[in-house]
Amino acid sequence: HEEDSVVMVGGGKTPQVPIGGSHAACIAGPCAVENEQMLRRIAGHVRDGGATILRGGVYKPRTSPYSFQGLGLQALKWMRETGDDLGMPICVEVMDTRQVADMEPFVDMFQIGARNMQNFDLLREVGKTTKPVLLKRGLAATVKDWLLSAEYVLSQGNKGVVLCERGIKTFEDSIRYTMDISSIPVARQWSHLPIIVDPSHAAGKRDLVGSLALAGMAAGAHGIIVEVHYNPAEAQCDGPQALLPEMFNELMGQLRQIAAVT
Ligand code: PEP
Ligand code: MN
Repeated sequence: HEEDSVVMVGGGKTPQVPIGGSHAACIAGPCAVENEQMLRRIAGHVRDGGATILRGGVYKPRTSPYSFQGLGLQALKWMRETGDDLGMPICVEVMDTRQVADMEPFVDMFQIGARNMQNFDLLREVGKTTKPVLLKRGLAATVKDWLLSAEYVLSQGNKGVVLCERGIKTFEDSIRYTMDISSIPVARQWSHLPIIVDPSHAAGKRDLVGSLALAGMAAGAHGIIVEVHYNPAEAQCDGPQALLPEMFNELMGQLRQIAAVT
């Protein structure tokens, strides 16, 4: 590739936010939308702290079928309204080909979760849409596997793919997953696609999230995606890794010393 891509997210009632280039993109919000009130509170906080894209899961890929699975389309509508009110494009995970058509009118960016990185039918289906795709790296995928998964989207005509390193399975058990710092320069050598890091899912613990975010940026990432919650003890999903609002603000201050956050 001759030039690195920049992927534009949003438009319509929100500004268009670029991912790629020399600035840092910041996607932030709760792991899962639990109700409208908590979504609005967290979204307002991350917006004030400088995040430009709102995240929030409405279909959750849980290890146990008895855990909270997400509130579905109702929660997606809350995401859309909140994003429009705050001027933030929204990034929401799609888990199944059957959800794509229903979600497409509401989302600004589809997230493909780590567990679906090689769900080739799903990749093709989002590849037929006009919405950008955040493609998380699979838990046990090589960088090559991951880039070939990106090709499934690109080959359908959708050129808006952003890669996301979110940690892989290793023997190390002091953390939830091991964030593979080297995948960032490798993916940047092999591909023109922008790449961001997800230190929240890699670390699994909020105290480690800031260090991993900054390490990812130092290694060449184009931004971060982080989970934030004001009451993580009561969170339905991923509470231990959620940044408290003041921790998010502190991280944003550090991020701004490295790159302009747009
Ligand atoms: C998430 O973003 O909440 C999520 C489930 O991520 P991953 O697919 O990386 O585990
Ligand atoms: Mn999560």
